Amino acid sequence: MKNIARVLNGPPCPLRDELRKLFAEYRASGPNLIRMMENDHRLERKFRDHFGARYVFTSSGFANIEIVSEQFQHDDYHRAVLIFSKLIINKDWAKLDGPCSWCSKYFVRRRRSFRKKENVYCSRECSAAATATASMQEKRDQEYFDKLEKAQAVAHRWDPSSGIPLKEFVHKKTGFTLTWIQRALNHKDERKKLRGEK
Ligand SMILES: [Zn+2]
Repeated sequence: MKNIARVLNGPPCPLRDELRKLFAEYRASGPNLIRMMENDHRLERKFRDHFGARYVFTSSGFANIEIVSEQFQHDDYHRAVLIFSKLIINKDWAKLDGPCSWCSKYFVRRRRSFRKKENVYCSRECSAAATATASMQEKRDQEYFDKLEKAQAVAHRWDPSSGIPLKEFVHKKTGFTLTWIQRALNHKDERKKLRGEK
């Protein structure tokens, strides 16, 4: 499992990218291999056509079963499929997860706890950093909206026939900088836009 994580976290190369693609598909499916194979016929065909089982006899009364891959091309996609084929028969499959929403690393959990969540974190540190950033953003948004509300109230009192541009008017009444007001007038996000002409 650690080896798979190592490839996923490794330096950029086509094998890594193919494996990342497969793992993302796997995650997005649930993971649900029936669903994944339904959505990815190329992969389903790979498993159907190229993997088989072989009895390996032992010197006792017991035989092992070995998985064999036949006529396997060795380009990066196929090498990624080979790695993936080992992941899904590993009893610890649910411990591999990623990429971490904060540091982008793939990781192996100590306990199996694969849950399909949009945000996953490799460590408590990453989770804490993400939470702190989110609440900081929230605070910044709140400050912006408070300011905007004030500016909007002033903009409502603006009389277009006064000859004073709206920007100047709001600036004089609120003390907000002209740059801030201009940005609020142009804001791409409608919720954050200060409405009004000019
Ligand atoms: Zn992380």
